[in-house]
Amino acid sequence: MIKKVLIANRGEIALRILRACKEMGIATVAVYSKADADLMHVRLADEAVCIGPASATDSYLSIPAILSAAEVTRADAIHPGYGFLAENADFAECVEGSGFIFVGPRPETIRVMGNKVAAIDAMRKAGIPTVPGSNGPIGDDIDKAKKLAAEIGFPLIVKAAAGGGGRGMRVVESMEELAHGIAMTRSEAKSAFGDDTLYMEKFLQKPRHIEIQVLADGQGNAVHLGDRDCSLQRRHQKVVEEAPAPGIPPELREQVAQRCVDACLEIGYRGAGTFEFLYEDGAFYFIEMNTRVQVEHPITEMITGVDIVKEQLSIAAGNPLSIRQDDVAFEGHAFEVRINAEHPERFTPSPGLITRFHAPGGNGVRVDSHLYSGYRVPPFYDSLIGKIITWGSTRDIAFKRMQNALDEVLIEGIDSNVALHRDKIFQDKNFAKGEVDIHYLEKKLFGE
Ligand code: ADP
Repeated sequence: MIKKVLIANRGEIALRILRACKEMGIATVAVYSKADADLMHVRLADEAVCIGPASATDSYLSIPAILSAAEVTRADAIHPGYGFLAENADFAECVEGSGFIFVGPRPETIRVMGNKVAAIDAMRKAGIPTVPGSNGPIGDDIDKAKKLAAEIGFPLIVKAAAGGGGRGMRVVESMEELAHGIAMTRSEAKSAFGDDTLYMEKFLQKPRHIEIQVLADGQGNAVHLGDRDCSLQRRHQKVVEEAPAPGIPPELREQVAQRCVDACLEIGYRGAGTFEFLYEDGAFYFIEMNTRVQVEHPITEMITGVDIVKEQLSIAAGNPLSIRQDDVAFEGHAFEVRINAEHPERFTPSPGLITRFHAPGGNGVRVDSHLYSGYRVPPFYDSLIGKIITWGSTRDIAFKRMQNALDEVLIEGIDSNVALHRDKIFQDKNFAKGEVDIHYLEKKLFGE
């Protein structure tokens, strides 16, 4: 039983978790930094605790601050959301060690999946296809690395085992660039993640990013909730997502999803999770697993009717999965756009006071956002200020509804990327047809 959940996050996802808790009759504790006292979910939570200064290191990333807040408020469980401590195995371990329920996988699972080299290894063993690559870390011996590179072929991509959020990877075009590419990525990885383990993969030329959402209870039950296409990216970060991924042969779609379910059972996975793949020429290649709820989870909720956050909470409470695979029915199509507080062309961050906010509405439109008129977007955190999600019985209807929603939304006082979505992406003829690759958006925005 979970009676009270501490939400160890901020912004739209904190509000999303709060809404799920309220629906389930679970009391909520909001924790917030000094810069975040005005957050929407802080006002709505049953209790709220200030856990530190604006700097995330001393607040949302401070394990002692969060655990103390949980102790003081006598919470039963901690939901980490995404980002911050969501995929920190030490945090999950501390949460459980202090007698609280961690809403997520077992700490050991997070640890394995947080190291991409270990994750790829585990998946290969579970029968999931991976990108041809170094099949393990590349050491300091540059001659060995060159040999491996010659086998993989160019271009290749050097990646940090501990990388995330699109950081810690570099494309290397030729043997001449290899030593420099490795050295640069190594020092970046060391300073950004405190771990300079690297590996190499073939750099796929025109793949799509397709991922499979799973739910598992760690008690022998697992289901998949289908796939999402997140190919529209800038700097390896997702900008628009849709579900299901268009144009995948049905047998192949089912086969890869089933493999993910089998892998969950094999590793005793618990909670919500996502298997991320690159898809090229009719083949899937695993790149990483995310052991948390994802930003783009609403599009899956729209086409399945399953509430992923409520399922997370139910699983964490020790219940078996409430659904079987046969219960999961897919209906229609959904899009999500990420609204960021940033300039629509230069992408520079744009914090500040929201003088006016008007959310779009209508049939099949969902807005997940903590914005309100008079809210001040602080400069200290991620620039995501909300998500617009549209559903339609067909892809064309969902697309049209997104165009309408983007015409309706008003965000004044700061710059946002609404214009990018409205005037460029959702006017693009190739995207309207579907099946664009991961390089498409950058080529469109910046030329080749
Ligand atoms: P992160 O954990 O930082 O999100 P991922 O491994 O998931 O990193 O990769 C993020 C994105 O980088 C992918 O969606 C894709 O656009 C690109 N990418 C990663 N690996 C490759 C590859 N082998 N070939 C081509 N693009 C890649």
